Amino acid sequence: MFAWRGDPYRMRILVVEDEKKLAQYLRKGLTENGYVVDIANDGIDGLHLALNGEYDILVLDVMLPGVDGFGVLKAVRASKDTPILMLTARDSVEDRVRGLQAGADDYLVKPFAFTELLARLQVLTRRGGAKSGLVHTSSTLNVGDLELDVTRRRASRERRRIELTALEFSLLELLMRHQGEVLSRTVIAEQVWDMNFDSDTNVVDVAIRRLRAKIDDPFERKMLRTVRGMGYVLEPQEPALGS
Ligand code: CA
Repeated sequence: MFAWRGDPYRMRILVVEDEKKLAQYLRKGLTENGYVVDIANDGIDGLHLALNGEYDILVLDVMLPGVDGFGVLKAVRASKDTPILMLTARDSVEDRVRGLQAGADDYLVKPFAFTELLARLQVLTRRGGAKSGLVHTSSTLNVGDLELDVTRRRASRERRRIELTALEFSLLELLMRHQGEVLSRTVIAEQVWDMNFDSDTNVVDVAIRRLRAKIDDPFERKMLRTVRGMGYVLEPQEPALGS
């Protein structure tokens, strides 16, 4: 797990989620990442807290007992412009559109990776680590011409800046720290996605594909290899063919 660094102000976040287990995961994970977290387990409590409390951001489930997520969203939007991230069920395009039209700032489809949630929250609350003005000691990883500045959270190859999501960054960091080692999908899933949803390891393949599109596709030499039936490996050079 990575943590956002160097920000002394602790953001207050309200999570409205009736699935107790998920709510507890979010409380734990967000607290570890420096947020002050309140949980509401239904729409009525959620609405009460959202309207009467001071929050920097709301995470709002759609399917809730009492008042549903759209009802809470509508009531909050009538009086506050607190950033709101909606959690929607898988594949419910209609929910997403409806949420965004009703004034939600972003949405995340369940099941989601915790790192993805953190990344979205960071964007919504504009917590730029680089803008904190604190002195960082640089910590840089190199594999071939690929460079990852872990402290400043920057990636580049051939000195060209590569924009990565927080999730892609964590994935690349893991691969770089284990360069030349084949990492299985399970190991990658455990290290990068620290929550155990009923996750199919397909999410790993999808994330690898996205990362590859950024760090390999634009370049002639490919570094991120698939080892059939085993997993993935990051190597400074393609292995020599034949011989
Ligand atoms: Ca729910």
